[in-house]
Amino acid sequence: MARVPSAAISRLVTYLRILEELEARGIHRTSSEQLAEEAQVTAFQVRKDLSYFGSYGTRGVGYTVQVLRRELRQILGLNRRWGLCIVGMGRLGQAIADYPGFSEIFELRGLFDHDPAKWGLHFHGLAVEGMEHLPRAIHERRIEFGLLAVPAEAAQAVANRLVESGIKGILNFAPVVLEVPKEVAVENVDFLAGLSRLAFFALNPRWREEMLG
Ligand code: NAD
Repeated sequence: MARVPSAAISRLVTYLRILEELEARGIHRTSSEQLAEEAQVTAFQVRKDLSYFGSYGTRGVGYTVQVLRRELRQILGLNRRWGLCIVGMGRLGQAIADYPGFSEIFELRGLFDHDPAKWGLHFHGLAVEGMEHLPRAIHERRIEFGLLAVPAEAAQAVANRLVESGIKGILNFAPVVLEVPKEVAVENVDFLAGLSRLAFFALNPRWREEMLG
C-alpha cells in the first residue's frame, strides 16, 4: 500500500460520517462529487483518498452508500470494539469519563489516578483505581488505547508506564510531545492549538478559502 498521508485518514473519518448520515436519510447511492461537497474538498481528493486502499465505485455510477460505509469502517478499524482507559482523573479525565456519547466501538474499561482521593469515584459503572492496577487491567481487560489526562510534567512517565503495559495507542491531552516506540500510535488533542489556527484563519481568511479550493 502507498504511504497514506495522515490528513487522508482524517478525511476518511469525515467521509464515513457523511455516509452514515446519508444512510440514516435512506439514500443508497452517492458520488465523489456529493461526498466532496459535504466534506468541503474536491471530488479529485475524495477519489485519491479512496484509491490508497483499493478501487471503489463505478465510473458514472458512483458508490453504493452501504458498501462504501462498510469498506471505510473496515479500513479505519471501526468494525470491532476497542478498549480504552483514562489515566488522570482530574477535571478533564472526569469530564471525558462522564461523557455519555462513547460509541459502541470505543468502550471505557478502566480509570486510573495516582491520587488516593480519586480512588473509588464512579463513572459509568467503573471505579477509579490506583496506578498499580494499570498493567494487569490493560492485559486482562484488553485495553488498547489510553487517554492521557495528567499534568504535562507527569505525562512522559505515565506514557512510559502505558507503553510498558502493552498499550497500542495514546490519545494525549497533555501539552507535551511524547516519546514512544514507533509501534505505539500517539494522537495529540490540543484545543489551544485549535484556537491558534482559528486566530490565524480569522486574520487570513483567504488562506482558508484557497485551501478549500
Ligand atoms: P487536573 O490537575 O485537574 O487533573 C490531573 C489528574 O492527573 C489529577 O487527578 C492527578 O491526581 C492525576 N495525576 C497527576 N500525576 C499523575 C501520575 N503520575 N499518575 C497518575 N495520575 C496522575 O488537570 P486537568 O485540568 O484535568 O488537565 C489534565 C491535562 O489535560 C493537563 O495536562 C492539561 O494541560 C491538559 N488539558 C488539555 C486540553 C486539550 O484540549 N488538550 C484541555 C484541558 C486540559
